[in-house]
Amino acid sequence: MAGIYVHIPFCHAKCAYCDFFSTPRMDLAEAVTDGIVGEFRARQGELQGRKADTVYFGGGTPSCLPLPLLQRITDALPLEDASEITIEVNPEDVSTESAALWRRLGFNRVSMGVQSLVDDELKAVGRRHSARKALSAVSVLRGAGFENISCDLIYGLPGQSLISWECSLRRLLEENIEHLSAYSLSYEPGTRLTAMLSAGKIQAIEDDLVADMYGYLCETARMYGFEHYEISNFAKPGFRSRHNSSYWTNTPYLGLGPGAHSMDATGTRRAAPPSVKKWLEFGAQIEPETAIDRINDTIITGLRTSEGLSLDFMTDKRLRDCVLRQASDHIARGGIIETHGRLIIPEHKWLVSDAIMRDLLIDDNY
Ligand code: SF4
Repeated sequence: MAGIYVHIPFCHAKCAYCDFFSTPRMDLAEAVTDGIVGEFRARQGELQGRKADTVYFGGGTPSCLPLPLLQRITDALPLEDASEITIEVNPEDVSTESAALWRRLGFNRVSMGVQSLVDDELKAVGRRHSARKALSAVSVLRGAGFENISCDLIYGLPGQSLISWECSLRRLLEENIEHLSAYSLSYEPGTRLTAMLSAGKIQAIEDDLVADMYGYLCETARMYGFEHYEISNFAKPGFRSRHNSSYWTNTPYLGLGPGAHSMDATGTRRAAPPSVKKWLEFGAQIEPETAIDRINDTIITGLRTSEGLSLDFMTDKRLRDCVLRQASDHIARGGIIETHGRLIIPEHKWLVSDAIMRDLLIDDNY
């Protein structure tokens, strides 16, 4: 099996915290659409005959692509082979017409950027929708027949309190969505939010408060019937994101569009430049990657999940011993659990898991 990822690089405006590649240049939409269709035709061989079981339109904001252009892409892709076909949307693009058309084009899963259900918090980070619009968008999507709806929330927003986070989370979960992605806000270099922080115009909230928000998130999501299956992802039983899960299990995927990443059936990774002009000119290029890079990738992606890292993938005893040696302090302190041939970071340590994972990475001298 394999997956296809399509990067639609357009956004109406840039959110203050975002460092993903996106552009408001909708005049490039036609060229990008044709480029994606051409790229699929030229590169589908990289899947070596494997059927794409999942297709994911991400971005950017795929929902701001004019519907005829979106259809041009879906018509060119083998959607008939896929069981999960996701489109990322923003609430302001959801209408009865757009939702019905997305369904008709074959999308059966929506991932919507809600981020908060407090208008002041949304405004502070440059989101264009209101809480009310986000909630009505969930109903419209349901009405159009989407039975698998995922929403994104962010905690740790400037000005956010524990109470406002609890309100956003609970109000959203009352909508009976099937999947939730909840991210702790990070101040990425080069973003507007980071510039505001450096200029003293906003204050980052305390780490202890972020930890309380995370604790409340885990507890509440569990109460509403969600499984916490990856650091930032929660799903009702049977609704884990199959596409994202395939990234964590090294399933090949073909990435199309500017800035998209791919991994073919031989494990070779490619990356397209995060620029429409350069992508149209040069396309995706093979990423220089060593065997050590790949092992470290597998360690990180495994440890981010509730299933943890399988020690079976380390057939080289020296490598396995090295990883276990590096994990031993964390195992002794409860930061990692070793069980049934797996290393698992327990849920209450996921918020500080970056530091744990760093200690397990190997170098050439292992
Ligand atoms: S809509 Fe999404 S991709 Fe676009 S700027 Fe905002 S966060 Fe980034």
